[in-house]
Amino acid sequence: MIKTISYLGLGTMGGGMVSNLLKAGYKLTVWNRSVKKCGPFGKKGARIADTPADAVRDAELVMYCLSNDQAVEEVVFEPKGILSGIKEGQIAVDMSTVLPATSLREEEAYAKRGVDFLDVPVFGSKQESADAKLWIMAAGNKAVFEKVKPVLEHLGQTIHYFGKNGNAVAMKLVGNLIVALELEALAEGLVLAQKAGLDLSTVMQVVKVADFRSPLLVSNGQNILKRNFSPSFALKLMLKDADLIAKFSESLDSPIPALPIVQKNLELAVALGFGEENASALIKSLEKEAGVEVKARRAR
Ligand code: NAP
Repeated sequence: MIKTISYLGLGTMGGGMVSNLLKAGYKLTVWNRSVKKCGPFGKKGARIADTPADAVRDAELVMYCLSNDQAVEEVVFEPKGILSGIKEGQIAVDMSTVLPATSLREEEAYAKRGVDFLDVPVFGSKQESADAKLWIMAAGNKAVFEKVKPVLEHLGQTIHYFGKNGNAVAMKLVGNLIVALELEALAEGLVLAQKAGLDLSTVMQVVKVADFRSPLLVSNGQNILKRNFSPSFALKLMLKDADLIAKFSESLDSPIPALPIVQKNLELAVALGFGEENASALIKSLEKEAGVEVKARRAR
């Protein structure tokens, strides 16, 4: 049974997960590029490591959740990275949203050191991470997955096993294609409703109950009406994922005709300075074009 864990990357998602692993009683070592994010976990008993290589020594399981492929490249492959410290018999788990090709490269590099590897991306955001309610997907060797599963059960409400390495991040990109299109649909719909003079609170009441309802549409729609764009899932990460989806679908010659429209709106929102806001701030590109601001008000 796994008892010692190293966790690297204490951002929005990683921070919530580490809190839950500490609560579950695991012995934790943490590392984060900006060291100040380690402090609160140090106070709760985690060892704070100086480098990724230092972080992974002595842990049975090494987990990380980093922004993008570039961050994984640096933290895993560079000198003083995970690969320079990890040893045979340890298990590595990448929870970042990256290209399946990156997961396969990680698997190959770890295998050379006798280290098992799983790609384990997640659905859910800041709140689900904090509440251990993530929707988790995992891929890699089944026996290794079974060893890691009890740890994942402390982080999420569902866990789906997807077979060989790369398949879980492929599923993550499939899901985020749907997320991107849902956010675009919500933004376009709310701008149109505003232009039509509809009572947007009533519009959201319908979105909440109708047959096209989804928790994502409801939470983002309600926050847009309150003009609350504090980041649970940063817009710049949604753009990063849209770019990954485009590359991935191109590699498989699979059509995604709607996605370039979302990419364009996300790029525009970043150019307008909203990259650090929540992904739902993509509505601001459309609002600029429409000359309106979507917020709760009474119908005329
Ligand atoms: P975040 O809050 O921006 O945290 C990103 C983490 O990556 C931070 O620890 C950051 O370190 C680290 N990092 C970035 N570049 C790095 C580099 N070059 N070297 C070392 N560390 C680096 O992001 P997040 O929202 O937690 O997302 C993390 C991953 O989960 C992403 O792949 C994202 O797509 C995915 N994800 C996010 C959500 C969500 O709703 N937020 C949901 C599902 C999946 P610093 O603190 O030093 O910047």
